[in-house]
Amino acid sequence: MTTVYQFKESLYINLTNRCPNACVFCAKSKGNKMFNGYNLDLGEKEPSAQEVLTEIDKQISAGFTPKEIIFCGYGEPTMALPVLLEVAKNLKAKYSYSLRLNTLGLGSLVWGRDITKELAPYIDKVNISLNATDEKTWLKIVRPAPKYAEESFKAMQDFVRSATKNIKEVAVSVVSNQGIDAEKAKKLANSLGAKFFVREYFDA
Ligand code: SF4
Repeated sequence: MTTVYQFKESLYINLTNRCPNACVFCAKSKGNKMFNGYNLDLGEKEPSAQEVLTEIDKQISAGFTPKEIIFCGYGEPTMALPVLLEVAKNLKAKYSYSLRLNTLGLGSLVWGRDITKELAPYIDKVNISLNATDEKTWLKIVRPAPKYAEESFKAMQDFVRSATKNIKEVAVSVVSNQGIDAEKAKKLANSLGAKFFVREYFDA
């Protein structure tokens, strides 16, 4: 199992395999646990903050200088919010690297409160995956768990709005090969106060 891995110029942190969604394009739905040679399946046991911090220290001491440290992973990082916050707080205290969260934007819905304020002291950038520009398509593509489905599209947009108020840099992105109208997505992102970009799809 891999909790911290290098990809391009950055260090990526895989905190959890849990996710409130079941996206049609998710590697997990294809049974694929590998990414770029790393096995991202955490099995039954998610890492503690100390385990993650030790691994990051090890990779940095071995000579890797990351452009960014990114909470990403084979699941939704905010599902492990307490660990995420502890790791981010310790990294901020020890290093000057930029910290980024890649998220689907349902963290506040899952935790029942606005978590962007809790992330703000430590997280420099948030990238939110949009996946679709209307609720019907969004539900069809990201397939949220039934208990989140009804509120999910609005909650994701509320998360973007709050993030733009509390966090330095917020961007909404779509994956290049998913057939999403990038112009519409850009308009929606900008209307929520966020920047927009199209990102490359990475499979294993
Ligand atoms: S949000 Fe990410 S981890 Fe969750 S189902 Fe979608 S692709 Fe998979």
